[in-house]
Amino acid sequence: MSNCKVTAICNQKGGVTKTTTTANLGVGLAMEGKKVLLVDIDPQADLTTALGWPDSDALPMTLSDIMEKTIHDEEFGYYDAILKHDEGVDLIPASIELSGMEMSLVNAMSREFTLKSYLGMIKHEYDHIIIDCPPSLSMLTINALAAADSVIVPVQAQYLPAKGMTQLMRTIGKVRKQINPSLKVDGVLLTLADMRTNLARATADILRQQYGSTLKIYKTQIPIAVKAAEISAAGQSIFAYDKGSKVAQAYADFTKEVLADEARAKSKATRSR
Ligand code: ADP
Ligand code: MG
Repeated sequence: MSNCKVTAICNQKGGVTKTTTTANLGVGLAMEGKKVLLVDIDPQADLTTALGWPDSDALPMTLSDIMEKTIHDEEFGYYDAILKHDEGVDLIPASIELSGMEMSLVNAMSREFTLKSYLGMIKHEYDHIIIDCPPSLSMLTINALAAADSVIVPVQAQYLPAKGMTQLMRTIGKVRKQINPSLKVDGVLLTLADMRTNLARATADILRQQYGSTLKIYKTQIPIAVKAAEISAAGQSIFAYDKGSKVAQAYADFTKEVLADEARAKSKATRSR
């Protein structure tokens, strides 16, 4: 079995920092010595832009090419699309062409498993693969959830985040039943938190009330900060762009939490064997 863990960063709501979290968790893990691949499966290609490739349509090969070739069972170089970022992470870029993928997938055999089937070819090269999902519960998101071992859900720390969560949890439940029985929800990350208010704590309480005490809410909260918003244009992670800032510290703490959970899960699995 591969030791690579595949995580989807998922929430059908836009603007909850899925992309920012993918980039910074990815670089955070790379800084901890992990081999990391980030996958941009959003046709908006925000992750690709944020990591320094704003003109993704000009790239020779992107995820939509990979998925097309996988659907049609064509031969291709599995590593051809992979870009290398200065901060030690690999990236499979997206482009607007991905928006047409929805139609190609409709008629594809095993359409839910296209991404999983491709990642299966390369995952032995990595410790972590992190997929940045689009803001929808489309077939692209289903492909991400089918390929993933677990999901991390970034949620904006505010009242009423729970509404959209119900739909997401229902989708995850359906995916579990029908296509990926071992899919786990690793946890909810509270983001864009205004540390001067208690809103983050109130949000956590609401989420626990609605989704049960079993839903993990990460201890780390990502504070709201102007500099953090700037990185989407800077091509850098928060660790490079605003080293020593509260947001950089928060993403470092979050990375450690993710690694600690993983170590705990692994030792549990070994003990129960
Ligand atoms: P999503 O991928 O869920 O749509 P993004 O990662 O694109 O969310 O983030 C939404 C917006 O919030 C972007 O403009 C981003 O630059 C900004 N942003 C991300 N993190 C922070 C933060 N900690 N503080 C303030 N703004 C942030
Ligand atoms: Mg995004």
